[in-house]
Amino acid sequence: MAYSKELHERARAEIKRRKTDAEYTAQQHRNELNTRYPEFQFIESELAKTGMEIVGVFASKDNVQERLATIRAKNTTLRNERKKLLKALNLPEDYLDVKYTCEKCQDTGYIEERDDERGVSYGTKYCTCHQELLKKYASEKMSKATPLELSSFDDFDLGYYPKQVGSSGESPYEVMKYVYDNCKDYAEEFALDSNNLYFYGRTGLGKTHLSLAIANEVMKKGYNVVYGSVITFLNKLEREKFGRTETFETEDILVDADLLILDDLGAEFSTPFVVSALYNIINCRIARGVPTIISSNLSLDEVKNRYPESIASRIMGKFKIVEFAGKDIRQIQNDE
Ligand SMILES: [Zn+2]
Repeated sequence: MAYSKELHERARAEIKRRKTDAEYTAQQHRNELNTRYPEFQFIESELAKTGMEIVGVFASKDNVQERLATIRAKNTTLRNERKKLLKALNLPEDYLDVKYTCEKCQDTGYIEERDDERGVSYGTKYCTCHQELLKKYASEKMSKATPLELSSFDDFDLGYYPKQVGSSGESPYEVMKYVYDNCKDYAEEFALDSNNLYFYGRTGLGKTHLSLAIANEVMKKGYNVVYGSVITFLNKLEREKFGRTETFETEDILVDADLLILDDLGAEFSTPFVVSALYNIINCRIARGVPTIISSNLSLDEVKNRYPESIASRIMGKFKIVEFAGKDIRQIQNDE
C-alpha cells in the first residue's frame, strides 16, 4: 500500500484513541462498582489474591497440580459470584469487559500472522480496521474540494424538466423521473457488487447533482466514496508519476474506493499518459468487481471516436448507460 505516512499516522492515532477509550470505560465501570458495593470490592480483592497465590505455587514447587486445582476452583467460584452480583444489579454480564471497536486486533491495529499447525509466527500485519481508516481518510482528503453533503435527492427538482413529449415519444420529465427513481434505488440498495453506471447527457441536466446525491447516501451507509472530476484525478496522478509530489497514493485511493465517481469524462486533454491512467483505473476496478460511476457529455459514439477500443469497450460492455434528457436546468433557473 502506498498510502502516505500522514494517513498511516492518523489511522494509528485513531486506533490508539479507541483502545484508550475502551479501557477507560471498563475501568470506570470497575471503579464505580468498587466504590458503591463493598461485596464487589471483596470479590475483586479475593480474585487478585488468587493471582498472587498462583505465583506462589510455582515458586515453592510442592504439590503443584493439587494446589493449582484448588486455586482455580476458588477463582471460578469468585467469578460466578461476581456474575451473580452483576445480574442482581441489573447490569450486563460483560459490564466489566473492555469493549474494543475491533475485536480482531483488540484495537492494537495489528494482527499476528501465524501458522497454528506449525506453531510459527510470521510477524504482524495491519489489521483490516487500520486499512478501513486509511481508505476513509484518503477518500475524505480526495473529495475535500467537493461539498458532497450539498446535493441530496430531496432537493432535486423534477419540475424543471419539460413535460412536452419530444421526438423520442417521451417527455424530458418522464425520462428524468425514471433516471431519478433509478438513481435513488441504486443509492438505497448500494452494495459492493452494484452496477457501474455511465451518466450521459448535455451539461446542466443534473448529472453532477444526482451523482453527488448517490455519493451522499452511499456514504451515510458507511461506504467509502471517492468523488471528483477526471481532470483533477489525472492531474494528481500525473504529478505523482513524474515525481512532483512526495506521496503516491492517488492510484490506490481511486482503485480501492468502495464507490468511485468520475465526473466529466471527456473534459480532459488526451495524452498517452491520460489514456493509460484512465484505462488502468477503470480496468482495475472492474477486475476487483467494485462499482464506478462515470458522468460525461459524450455519447457512446463519441466515446468510441475519442478513446481507444480498450476503454470504449469497457464502458460499453461493463457500464449501465443512463441517459439524461431535457433543457439545461441552470439555463432555466437563470431565466426565471
Ligand atoms: Zn483491528
